[in-house]
Amino acid sequence: MADAPVVVAVDGPAASGKGTIARRLAEHLGFAHLDTGLLYRAVARRAMDRGGDPADGEAALRAARTLEAGDLAGEGLREETVTSAASVVAADPGVRAALLDFQRGFAAAPPGGAAGAVLDGRDIGTVVCPDAQVKLFLDASPEVRARRRVRELRQRGANAIYAAVLRDMEARDARDRDRAVAPLAPAEDAFVIDTSAMNADEAFREALAHFDARTTSQK
Ligand code: C5P
Repeated sequence: MADAPVVVAVDGPAASGKGTIARRLAEHLGFAHLDTGLLYRAVARRAMDRGGDPADGEAALRAARTLEAGDLAGEGLREETVTSAASVVAADPGVRAALLDFQRGFAAAPPGGAAGAVLDGRDIGTVVCPDAQVKLFLDASPEVRARRRVRELRQRGANAIYAAVLRDMEARDARDRDRAVAPLAPAEDAFVIDTSAMNADEAFREALAHFDARTTSQK
């Protein structure tokens, strides 16, 4: 029987670098990658498209239960209104429960028969895949993260104001950290990487070194 897939959990707040690290690790290792934030964004988008208020639990729950893979490639999932609504629907325990099977299924049987899966989000190491062999938690100061987000938005042609981005990001982080179910927090056995003073290559090297150390010691 083939070995069980290696699961890598990458958690952290907004603009901590977790998405980039997860993508690069997956590419480097030949693993499948799931950006779990897209699930919450797609739920928020669907609830809003149907004229629903994302804060209305019923609309969000219906959207989560009927979510299809194609919704993850939907347009506008990175828009600020969707970003903020995603963290509102994400606080709903019913929504989170409805999305669990899909995430765990992805980790247990990565698409394309890949030997492993990298999932990035907020609760991968604590709730979705508590048995992941490798757990990373990326962090950075709010100011550094807001500067990164401003750069990213401007590169996409959006008109971003630092103070507004910082304020919105801190509000979203607070919602993610303070919610009752699956709050944003490092797992006890997560390896924390503070990327405040690192560039993407340095953060990737740290992450890969930890992956190598964990997977070699388990062989
Ligand atoms: O990662 P991203 O910024 O795209 O996530 C959008 C929102 O989705 C987060 O602010 C958070 O509220 C929610 N989320 C979550 N759990 C995850 C991934 C994302 O609650 N595993």
